[in-house]
Amino acid sequence: MSSCVGIIGGGLTGLTAAYRLVKKGVSVTVFEQAAEPGGLAASMDLGTVSLERFYHHIFTSDKYLLDLCRELGLDSLVGWFEPRNAIFIDNRLYPFTSPMDLLRFTPMSLASRIRTGLLTLASRFVRDYKPFESQTAKDWLIKRAGEQSYRKVWEPLLASKFDRDADLVSAVWIWNKFKLRGASRGRNINREKLGYMKGGFAQLISKLSEEITEAGGIIRLNCPISGIRCLPDGGFSLDGCPDGEKFDRALFTGSPQQLAALDTPLDAGQRRMMSELKAKANLCLNLELDRPLSDYYWITVAQRDIPFVLIIEHTNLVGMDNYPSHVVYLSRYVDQQDAIWQKSDHEIEAIFLDGLSRVFPGFDRAWIKRSTLSRAPYAQPVITRHYSRLVPSIKTAVDGLYLASMAQIYPEDRGMNYAVRLGTTVADEILREL
Ligand SMILES: Cc1cc2nc3c(=O)[nH]c(=O)nc-3n(C[C@H](O)[C@H](O)[C@H](O)COP(=O)(O)OP(=O)(O)OC[C@H]3O[C@@H](n4cnc5c(N)ncnc54)[C@H](O)[C@@H]3O)c2cc1C
Repeated sequence: MSSCVGIIGGGLTGLTAAYRLVKKGVSVTVFEQAAEPGGLAASMDLGTVSLERFYHHIFTSDKYLLDLCRELGLDSLVGWFEPRNAIFIDNRLYPFTSPMDLLRFTPMSLASRIRTGLLTLASRFVRDYKPFESQTAKDWLIKRAGEQSYRKVWEPLLASKFDRDADLVSAVWIWNKFKLRGASRGRNINREKLGYMKGGFAQLISKLSEEITEAGGIIRLNCPISGIRCLPDGGFSLDGCPDGEKFDRALFTGSPQQLAALDTPLDAGQRRMMSELKAKANLCLNLELDRPLSDYYWITVAQRDIPFVLIIEHTNLVGMDNYPSHVVYLSRYVDQQDAIWQKSDHEIEAIFLDGLSRVFPGFDRAWIKRSTLSRAPYAQPVITRHYSRLVPSIKTAVDGLYLASMAQIYPEDRGMNYAVRLGTTVADEILREL
């Protein structure tokens, strides 16, 4: 087979698709605008170990990712850990790992706690998401867990994840979160298990990249593509491709909004549908500290006056082996139009650190050995009601041009597992048509 495919985007979806295609003898070139592959799962170098720019763990149910790790001989690197979680609410930290923690969670009445617990438990066994499609998360949570539970916990959480679109989020999204977290508990509902790759998920990205290039594929970094053009005798050229290569097929793996903004033969209707999909950006401050802040891995901040929604102490999950510092992330989802997104990294860091001092009044900036702010303009698709009608198809209206992006992961939510599944699905589709 001598066909060639131009893949735009070297995240996990693009790399998985490239890997599947080269293994079938298709020649591929991956174009990544960033200096390193991996997209949202890309890493930075801490000297002794790699660390994801944005916090990452996996779930026991992440079948596609785990199968790929096995195929690449990386499965022995995956370790499983029991997280300790907490919630920050009413200016206090409450443990929030087990059903017992929920029962002891005094900011809500006992009746609300029981209803919330039953809802999260029952969600795990629901298979058909269709009945939830017409409801918003807000209405569903109020109906099923009660007004108090919604106001105390879920409203601030939805607001901090989805900002001004919080009230539009579909019940399918929150149901799926309950289901996923439930599944990661297995048979013992008191014990959650989360996975992490020894040495970081950079191992997976670099192994995939290595397999692609060893099989003859090309990965071009620092190579933004600004347009996709149909050639008169069939196939595509890509604006930004340094040597004017021609491709039989083109695959875009960024967000639909990014594809809509490129110079392409897509018609106005398709572009409008793609650009009208909503997504949130993410601001993630990574701190390397000389000491831990707490003994929790995951702290959910359910208080809107704090400028971030999560505090993640990575080294509290995976231990300190090879890490030169205690690793903490502070994460916030925003709209690209929000004032905070427009601020400089330095200003955002100052705002986040003020917030951190409110959660941990003893926190001292002198504990920081290094800090890094990462920005992801398209970090989280907003799953609105009846999203199944909005999901763009993998095959665009332009023959031979494909789209495989996080916005097509549904009813599940975006994640590395689904990037691997989608990369495989789109590669299969391309192979069928070549
Ligand atoms: C804060 C945060 C935390 C997360 N935590 C987890 C977690 O714990 N577990 C988990 O499984 N998943 C997690 N995820 C999600 C996971 O990282 C993503 O689902 C997955 O990496 C998406 O891969 P992708 O290839 O589909 O998209 P992306 O990673 O977004 O890759 C798309 C790539 O396309 C490139 N691109 C776009 N336009 C162009 C262009 N014109 N030219 C060239 N290149 C272009 C981009 O630079 C990017 O590298 C998290 C994500 C975020 C933001």
